[in-house]
Amino acid sequence: MHAEMLVLQFSRKVVDQPIIYRLVKDFNLEFNLLKAAINPQQEGVIVMELRGHPQDFRRGLKFLRDAGVQVKRVAGEVRRNDELCYQCGACTAVCPTGALYIERPAMSVAFAAERCSACELCCPVCPARAMEVKLNRNAI
Ligand code: SF4
Ligand code: SF4
Repeated sequence: MHAEMLVLQFSRKVVDQPIIYRLVKDFNLEFNLLKAAINPQQEGVIVMELRGHPQDFRRGLKFLRDAGVQVKRVAGEVRRNDELCYQCGACTAVCPTGALYIERPAMSVAFAAERCSACELCCPVCPARAMEVKLNRNAI
């Protein structure tokens, strides 16, 4: 069994197609969805762990690429630079695992590194660039 955490980015052209259904049905793959933000007629992003026999996994990735889905492997480590973070909270809206969350009653933004999947969705939304990637994920 092979398993990897992936970020799939869908263009407008393919966002309405049953891509994930095909991965399960045609390639015998299993998935654990962490985040799906897809709007009809617009671009979308899915963060998920994909599992299956290595050969099925490779065939499934080829199917995704051929369908026009951009697939990136989560291979890095994401850390917060606490000196840069000014607690604005923007990152908590996109974090799929709850690693970034509002701590009450102080209303401070906490980072639980052990829950982080290194999907990097928080990096571009942080105005302070406080979320840093140690190793870059690779396009596959
Ligand atoms: S990389 Fe950022 S958005 Fe992704 S799980 Fe880790 S803290 Fe959350
Ligand atoms: S978006 Fe950046 S600055 Fe704002 S709370 Fe998150 S890590 Fe801190």
